[in-house]
Amino acid sequence: MALPNGAHNSLSHRFRTLAYNLWWTWNPQAQELFRQLSPLTWERTSHNAIEVLNELSAQELRARLYDPDFRNKVEQVLEEFESYMNSTSTWASEHAAALTQPVAYFSAEFGLHESLPIYSGGLGVLAGDHTKSASDLGIPFIGIGLFYRQGYFQQRIDPSGWQQELYPFKNPEELPLELVTNERGERVLNSVEIGHSVVYIQAWRLHVGRAIVYLLDTNLPENDQHFQGLTGHVYGGDIDTRIGQEIVLGIGGVRLLRSLGISPSVYHMNEGHSAFLTLELLRHELRLTGNLEQAERSVTSQCIFTTHTPVPAGHDRFSSELMYHSFNKFWSETGRSHEDLMNYGRINPADPGELFTMTVLALKMSRSANGVSELHGRVSREMWKDLYAGRAVKEVPIGHITNGVHTPGWATLTAHTFWNKRLGVDWTAKLMDTSYWEKIENDGLATDEELWALRYQLRRDLIEFIRTRLREQYLRTGGEGSMSVDHLLSPDALTICFARRFATYKRAPLIFHHLDRMLPLITNPERPVQLVFAGKAHPRDIEGKKYIQKIVEMTRHPQLAGRVVFIENYDMNVARALVAGADVWLNNPRRPLEASGTSGQKVIIHGGLNLSIMDGWWREAYNGLNGWAIGDDSSVADIEAQDEKDFENLYAVLAGSVIPDFYTRNERGIPERWIQRIRNSMRTLIPLFNTDRMVSEYVRTYYLPHASLPHPFRT
Ligand SMILES: *Cc1c(COP(=O)(O)O)cnc(C)c1O
Repeated sequence: MALPNGAHNSLSHRFRTLAYNLWWTWNPQAQELFRQLSPLTWERTSHNAIEVLNELSAQELRARLYDPDFRNKVEQVLEEFESYMNSTSTWASEHAAALTQPVAYFSAEFGLHESLPIYSGGLGVLAGDHTKSASDLGIPFIGIGLFYRQGYFQQRIDPSGWQQELYPFKNPEELPLELVTNERGERVLNSVEIGHSVVYIQAWRLHVGRAIVYLLDTNLPENDQHFQGLTGHVYGGDIDTRIGQEIVLGIGGVRLLRSLGISPSVYHMNEGHSAFLTLELLRHELRLTGNLEQAERSVTSQCIFTTHTPVPAGHDRFSSELMYHSFNKFWSETGRSHEDLMNYGRINPADPGELFTMTVLALKMSRSANGVSELHGRVSREMWKDLYAGRAVKEVPIGHITNGVHTPGWATLTAHTFWNKRLGVDWTAKLMDTSYWEKIENDGLATDEELWALRYQLRRDLIEFIRTRLREQYLRTGGEGSMSVDHLLSPDALTICFARRFATYKRAPLIFHHLDRMLPLITNPERPVQLVFAGKAHPRDIEGKKYIQKIVEMTRHPQLAGRVVFIENYDMNVARALVAGADVWLNNPRRPLEASGTSGQKVIIHGGLNLSIMDGWWREAYNGLNGWAIGDDSSVADIEAQDEKDFENLYAVLAGSVIPDFYTRNERGIPERWIQRIRNSMRTLIPLFNTDRMVSEYVRTYYLPHASLPHPFRT
């Protein structure tokens, strides 16, 4: 080729920049480039672009770019990437110009991609999707999280069906991380006080489109051995580790921003884990002015808080002793007493026995707070009403913004290709436009046959993904069952998926509650049903592990073997395969404990349908035609009675509507009623349950300075 050397160098340089920006995680054409460079490395490393690049010598990369077809594709993707990065005309430039300083978004987990395992479940995935949409909308946005070198565990299931946990080390060199340095190229070091110790923190910069996420890390030779491992695992270790991680996240995060000269327009606490940030803001303010009331007012005016769960165990609580041991040095600087500190985390300051609750601290120190669905907002107002004595429950100042998903990031290559062809490539920029999606009801955009072909292709993709995974699983465990893998599951059968964390309130085994009744329904040779399960239990959740064991038992049941499978190691990659291939996404939590739930929102763009308890987001989404409800909009207090009732309702809707609708075909083999539901689901749900809509609501309601509500707590 006649290209001068420099042109190639600059192309490979631009290509490296692309690999170091997670923009590629929501652009399948960009992913294709990395996959093509080394398919084996790509698969082996959970789709890690940096490891693919590290695998290639400079010579190979240069030579590969001599291939005109490949180079053209690279150039196309780079142009798209660079024009995205340089664009000055965005949603925010039009609707949020007043937001001149960045939003600082604090979260203990960020689920951005399967190659960066610093998340455990829905909370992290939501934070990742929030960040991606903030970038897409052009909002100045900085995420603050922790760099967990050993991440969240990888799951293996032993022959008895019991979950085992593995924690492989992640080397920052193998991840798209840049060490944060100052203008002299020296590492930026901050520190926090934990008890009497000083713990040093370095930070890694992660580019997520136009947004930046800083990940804090205590794995430094400057620290005592004990503190080097502090940020090792997602929610790892004992209560001392927990409070230590939260001090690093909240206090360390504010200090990092200060050391970089960043003054955020608002601090957004995504769940209570980061709420210690308010104490650091308070300490700093007090040092400047010495005036407590003024300092408190200043802190609350800068902070907002999102609560994510009505499950009591989901709210961190620390004893007075632990707070004393962890904070005495830090807090002594303020000149205030230990009881003063405790009061920020107590509903009733007069009760010395009350623990310090992070949610209470966050609520007291924020200008606004919200839950993550309409019902969850209501449940949260009830849950925290004692903090607002003298007010009626409905006046408790906790609002709601219903969660969404970052649709372009969840859509598979097949789905992108399908929509690009029919809607044009800019459909990803139209996610909030309700009238745009009305076209889907129209046969002219995609015929029933085309939609059905899409469903077949995605179901086939899923089944082949599962067969590959199970073959690997069987090979590892000594070949048991490997002979039958090639014919496991049927591409023609109604495929129901259930995948999420195995928290017991999500009730994975509910569908088998009365096995004798469910068996004939599932194994009907005319109308077979197959079930795919995946999910991790928290390492200390014995009951959750028993649920996994129960599902694994079902996969071996003589009548269910080959129709019920459990896929190990649920992560964003497994999730993407499942949400694309599922005909039906099953969600049966104990109402009202699923604050929002988001996994069901990921199926919509692929033509999957939701079958769900009327909890979280589905209560607001269901219209009678866009999926199915299990039961009605009410809760039963008695757990056993609720399981019984929900099983009956699940059975009834499967037998009465889901299965017949799927298997009733017209003369061309099309299930017309089913396709009608898919169209209704896409039209009504795509434009609402996405993070562009969600983030734009955060901007309008909470982020914009003029949106600041008067402080709820101090009247
Ligand atoms: C989307 C997602 C979740 C959240 O699922 P819920 O249904 O909200 O519990 C959890 N884990 C992974 C890996 C996900 O992709």
